[in-house]
Amino acid sequence: MATKVDLSSFNLTELEDFVSDELGEASFRAKQIMNWIYKQGVVDFEEMTNLSQDLRSRLQGKAYINKFIEITRAESKDGTVKFLFKLRDNKEIETVFLPYQDGRNSICVSTQVGCGMGCNFCATGQQGLERNLTTGEIISQILEVQRLMSSSGYNSSLITNIVFMGMGEPLANYDNLLKAIKILNSNETLNISMRRITVSTCGLVPQIKRLADEELQLVLAISLHAAEDEIRDNMMPINKRYPLEELITACEYYLERTNRRITFEYALIDGVNNRHEDAKKLAQLLSGLLCHVNLIPINPVKDLRLSRPNREDTKEFKKILNQNNIQATVRQERGKDIEAACGQLRTENN
Ligand code: SAH
Ligand code: SF4
Repeated sequence: MATKVDLSSFNLTELEDFVSDELGEASFRAKQIMNWIYKQGVVDFEEMTNLSQDLRSRLQGKAYINKFIEITRAESKDGTVKFLFKLRDNKEIETVFLPYQDGRNSICVSTQVGCGMGCNFCATGQQGLERNLTTGEIISQILEVQRLMSSSGYNSSLITNIVFMGMGEPLANYDNLLKAIKILNSNETLNISMRRITVSTCGLVPQIKRLADEELQLVLAISLHAAEDEIRDNMMPINKRYPLEELITACEYYLERTNRRITFEYALIDGVNNRHEDAKKLAQLLSGLLCHVNLIPINPVKDLRLSRPNREDTKEFKKILNQNNIQATVRQERGKDIEAACGQLRTENN
């Protein structure tokens, strides 16, 4: 028996081709199906009541709409909800829902099971890479969370912002990621503006250039964490392959092509990268770039000895950046009590 295809991995053109080539139906059916999947959040063909019974059964025979099993859910006192989902091959990923006071709802989406980049301060990095997520699995995280939040009575569950900051390195799964982003951005689906989508990377230089050439209005976030190669080499193995100079050149190219302000993430670890000298070096490295620095006091990760700087030191670090004309903010912490904060996502049971 031929394997079934996942319709949540399809863009409109692919769905139209599928509907006409595989099912012999008029291509306008594709828009109806898209509407069910994205606007109504339906995963069962039986619920697609404007399709004939015959078409529904044929769809059933050839296709499916990806769906996860919710294994656990943890709710933070700040409203953040962390879901652990089981995939069709029993692997697990985490997705985090982040509601804001002003009515926006952000979702932190995973792009891989685990991560192969091995950053020494990150829980996901300790797990290693298991596999890339498919386009459908990336998209389904958003649909699933919308469904689950609304069925548990949260009446404003629509996702307005997407951050690719969950498990995995998004740009190491470039094609599936870009396809998912373009689908989510289109009119037939959730119509999420590119400006409300953030892609965070540890610094894969060729992919940053490739992304620049797409000229999308996305927010690019670079996990920088150090302004000197020696320090960054120790924290992030990727720096040995693409050292800071190359990374900054790629960022300049990104700015040239998109004119979109870049976010630099800098996790402050006491005694590693938080000296005044580090702040000055960081300001120097970024001087003249259209950018913003997000300072993140390091979040604890089991088995890793990471100490956070105290509040005063963090303030001082920010002040030095500001004095040197670099915009910086200290990131508001979310979901730390449920280990849903940056760098705390890992699915191994240990
Ligand atoms: N792989 C991508 C995106 C996922 S990580 C990347 O590295 O950019 C999301 C953010 O959390 C990254 O900026 C990452 O560097 C940061 N992070 C990882 N571990 C952390 C920790 N223990 N505390 C705070 N931030 C952490
Ligand atoms: Fe991977 Fe990002 Fe964690 Fe590094 S910080 S190990 S790139 S998820």
